[in-house]
Amino acid sequence: MSLASLPPLRDSLAAHGLVANKGFGQHFLLDLNITRKIARLAEVGDGDLVIEVGPGPGGLTRALLETGAKVIAIEMDPRFAPLLHDLSAAGGDFQLILGDALKADETEIVRGRQAHLVSNLPYNVGTALLIKWLTGPWTPASLTLMFQKEVADRIVAAPGGDAYGRLAVLAQALTEAKLVMDVPARAFTPPPKVDSAVVRLTPLANRPHPARLDALQRITAAAFNQRRKMLRSSLKVMGGEALVLEAGLDPQARAETISMAGFFALADAWLAQRS
Ligand code: SAM
Repeated sequence: MSLASLPPLRDSLAAHGLVANKGFGQHFLLDLNITRKIARLAEVGDGDLVIEVGPGPGGLTRALLETGAKVIAIEMDPRFAPLLHDLSAAGGDFQLILGDALKADETEIVRGRQAHLVSNLPYNVGTALLIKWLTGPWTPASLTLMFQKEVADRIVAAPGGDAYGRLAVLAQALTEAKLVMDVPARAFTPPPKVDSAVVRLTPLANRPHPARLDALQRITAAAFNQRRKMLRSSLKVMGGEALVLEAGLDPQARAETISMAGFFALADAWLAQRS
């Protein structure tokens, strides 16, 4: 058997008597045209190592394996194990880890190899997983991830709108982040209530020093927790007006108008004030 000769995903699900469990955030992509497009956007190919969270019935996994990539998948729902086993039987370079991706130790999984993350993420843990991969000890070579559209918009947001907040600053401080594909709710089985989008994030070569990143996160937490207030008020406990002036910014400005460079200037001023 080869990957191309595997039965359609709907038939595989029916043959294994599987239906989506909403508790696990299961909304499946059964159209291989869509999963192949995501694999293309991920720019992975022969010999690349890919970590996929939540393969479910394996539609995206099939598309990734077709590129010649090796896929290590982490799935919480053990019901999919027999169905996913068919991927290895069909010649795919595939390994399944059953468990919670939030608790997975990627450093241990990749053992020094470069690896790409490609996933249609469960909505309920998507943001938590992204923050783990952005800030954790292990840095992926690239991340191509499906989120609900509203979260995707918050990751790539530019200053000046409601979508711009802590997530945009953190993601864009560490990666180049682009929204690369919109996917309507009707593309999933069962359809979720909202549309989705794929974001591609490429980690920057020059990561900020951990202390600078920590300062940036503290500043953005304080500034965006009171996003309607002027910085001189929202950053009061961190130095208020003097800190904002030291960073070369207007103390009357609000968080959502501050650029990435502005937040780094605030983080640097805060670190300087403490040294
Ligand atoms: N990749 C499949 C697709 O595109 O059709 C399924 C995507 S579905 C949105 C999310 C998958 O993540 C489900 O298979 C679900 O069981 C799994 N999942 C949910 N929470 C998880 C977690 N914490 N760790 C690993 N897998 C999880």
